[in-house]
Amino acid sequence: MKTIRKVSLLKKILHSEETKGNSIGFVPTMGALHDGHMSLVKKSTQENDITVVSIFVNPTQFNEKSDLDKYPRTLQEDEKLLIQYDCDYVFAPYANEIYPEGLETVVDIDLGYLTQPMEGEFRDGHFEGVVQVVKRLLDIVEPSRLYMGQKDWQQFTIIQYMLDHFDMNVELRVCPIMREESGLAMSSRNQRLDPEIKKRATVLSKVLSEAKEELGEKSIADLENEAISKLNIPDFKPEYFTIVNGKTLKPIENLDKTELIVACTAVWAGDVRLIDNMVLKGEL
Ligand code: AMP
Repeated sequence: MKTIRKVSLLKKILHSEETKGNSIGFVPTMGALHDGHMSLVKKSTQENDITVVSIFVNPTQFNEKSDLDKYPRTLQEDEKLLIQYDCDYVFAPYANEIYPEGLETVVDIDLGYLTQPMEGEFRDGHFEGVVQVVKRLLDIVEPSRLYMGQKDWQQFTIIQYMLDHFDMNVELRVCPIMREESGLAMSSRNQRLDPEIKKRATVLSKVLSEAKEELGEKSIADLENEAISKLNIPDFKPEYFTIVNGKTLKPIENLDKTELIVACTAVWAGDVRLIDNMVLKGEL
């Protein structure tokens, strides 16, 4: 495994891999890797000749500087894990390699309604930053397949829209949410949870499961409101619990006619913001 910091070097290496006929799987991450990330890496190594994992804490997708500053950075530990999982190249660029002066990297795309609800409502400009970095990384790596997690439902939906919009020749593969035994969705941010709060953070997955059980028995509005009140425990502050059409992210108009229904939630647990989601109907 090699760690590469320069765009020019990575492009040269990957170009030579491609001329040998090797397919490239790409896993973009912000590091502080855990088993959730590793499930993506594993899938990529199974399906491709070469796997590239990027580790880049992208400043343009953070709407709060303090969140960016507090984001865990653990490159050496990440490298040790990635070696064990047969990753071929770690791309860990400095910010000026991704955003060099004079290069226009802002992506000209109208994301329409997709960026409006849920994360869009609470994290102004977040998805513009995500689209910017993923497009730039895809232009550098030019993979055959791109691996993302179901954990960030709205994110992968927007990236699929971008791939379609620009007619990019990349297959998006979405991998299921990896959870701790307690049910808590794995996240780099979990490292920052106070142990006592972490125990109680299992409330997110519990409330999602309950909504799944009760779909069809209660109205969507009731399910959402009840979930919010169940998430409103001491030290916790729910931002949203929203049940949407899994493809369009629009509100459910007709339960029977909607093939894919997902509940998504974001909750402050102490000073850590957690997100989670669960398919209530259909299959991803
Ligand atoms: P991040 O480093 O948080 O930007 O995540 C990088 C990728 O890993 C994204 O596509 C995430 O959706 C995915 N991911 C994060 N947590 C999990 C998890 N618990 N299970 C599966 N995929 C995950």
